[in-house]
Amino acid sequence: MWNEISPAKAPSWPEGVRVPIVISVHHQSEEAAVLFEDGRPDPFDFSERQYGGRRGAWRLLEIMDDHKVKGTWIICGATAKKYPQVTREVLKAGHAIAGHTYEHEMMCNYPPEEELELIRKTVGAFEDVAGIRIRGWRTCFASHHTLDLLLEHFTFDWDASIWNDDLPYLIEGHGRRILEIPFSQYGDASLAIQITNPAPPTPYCTWHTNTPRFIFNTLKTQFDALYERGATRPVLMPLSVHDFIMGRPSRSKALDDFLTYAKQFPGVVFLTHDEICKHWMKNYQLA
Ligand SMILES: [Zn+2]
Repeated sequence: MWNEISPAKAPSWPEGVRVPIVISVHHQSEEAAVLFEDGRPDPFDFSERQYGGRRGAWRLLEIMDDHKVKGTWIICGATAKKYPQVTREVLKAGHAIAGHTYEHEMMCNYPPEEELELIRKTVGAFEDVAGIRIRGWRTCFASHHTLDLLLEHFTFDWDASIWNDDLPYLIEGHGRRILEIPFSQYGDASLAIQITNPAPPTPYCTWHTNTPRFIFNTLKTQFDALYERGATRPVLMPLSVHDFIMGRPSRSKALDDFLTYAKQFPGVVFLTHDEICKHWMKNYQLA
């Protein structure tokens, strides 16, 4: 069991910060490919997603580097094993890293003992590939056990799997505290997530509905609303992209254009989940 704990005082960002943008790059490549009834992946969907590991992740790294922004790379354990150079380059560039299950399992469908093993396997993948102990976790499809397992068996600082708020909050259980940094899908999967949850209506319809302009407009609308609101109260803009979706040339241009747009505004900063966690833990824990 765990409980949410109230912050020690009203949250705020450091002086001069109006909208922190927290970028999540989902580096999961082909792990979530649609499976046929015989258990084999749909080759069309598989190869489209494989683009993420082969090309898309590299393009997103380049764009973030060009804009000098840091984000958090949300990486499946199996993806780290298949594309170890990407994970190593992400670390070298100074981004944060979180685990994203092993093969993009929908944890809501797994009993707790299997979920625990999958989290352990994912943590181990990053130790093998990069010699690091990951500090953050995100599963797109959390189970009722996810937070308890993270608290009881691991030493994560933060989780970003839950979709229920605009701002982070502390949770406590099993003798530990972690920060929940809520997730939202204002990004490259904004429309598809609505029609593909939990599975696409057909194996041949995945993310194609999200055109570059649709993605740009979604990001801009979200940003404009938060920038206005950020004048009087604390806000946080989650920006989630996937290597195989936003990594395509035309959609990556939409990200490039959005970053150029947002950076013009005073008080806009780009923070990793690790940085947000550090700020929150330092300022808002009860003594
Ligand atoms: Zn995912």
